[in-house]
Amino acid sequence: MTRARSRSVPRPAPRGVSPLAVYRMEAIVVRVQPFAESDRLATLLSAEHGRVRAVARGAQKGRSTLSAAVQPFVRARMLLWHGRQLDGVAQAEILDAHGGVARDVGLLAAASYCCDLADAFSVERQEAGALYGGLSAALDLVAAAAARPAPAVVLRWFELSCLGCSGFLPELAVCTACGAPVGDPQGRSRLSASGGGILCDGCSGTDPHGLWLSPNTLRGLRYLAGATAEALARVRVGPGTMAEMDAALAAHIGAVLQRPLRSRALLQALT
Ligand SMILES: [Zn+2]
Repeated sequence: MTRARSRSVPRPAPRGVSPLAVYRMEAIVVRVQPFAESDRLATLLSAEHGRVRAVARGAQKGRSTLSAAVQPFVRARMLLWHGRQLDGVAQAEILDAHGGVARDVGLLAAASYCCDLADAFSVERQEAGALYGGLSAALDLVAAAAARPAPAVVLRWFELSCLGCSGFLPELAVCTACGAPVGDPQGRSRLSASGGGILCDGCSGTDPHGLWLSPNTLRGLRYLAGATAEALARVRVGPGTMAEMDAALAAHIGAVLQRPLRSRALLQALT
């Protein structure tokens, strides 16, 4: 047992790291940046450990397995070692590189945005099973580049997933000002990003910055908030409804994160 463990320790073993201070996890690489002379600093998302920042030694140079695995969008089985300040990736086996996203710049931007969202909505070292499952499914769908679901549908669904996982799902069933139920809309409804959800007709004036949503947009948001990834292939959204859903979720996410996501601006520039 001891011998088997010692064999899986990276070479060269980092100084001061006990051979037993290693752990395994399946993770998706959500961000990569050059680090030191030849290393990469990766931000990983895993179900068990949430967001983990780890250095991949030597990954910036050469064509090693580690170098191929520590790339954005890659889902991999990893062996990591605990470091004093940063953990390190010792070994990685690629499960899915999501290479399909490289087919066009729109898919690449969509996948980057998914990773940015996962990064922003995850917490370091805090279990993130639902978020990890959502990101994995979203990247699978974007990389598949199928006609349906359209990448925009996947993005709206994943935005709602991120909000749901973190407890910030917009309230879409009752008025956030007075608590009255808001049923199937007959006309436009107002969504208050600062108030955290929908307003009834009587309260629609309480947030002058609120966005007006068509009945189809509210129905679409409600549907996607409860949909599984498998159900998305059946979803068709017209361009007007999609534009409203996009604006509504952008406003809501902006209110939650209080900072812009660069990849979202890129995505908007491409559409
Ligand atoms: Zn109300």
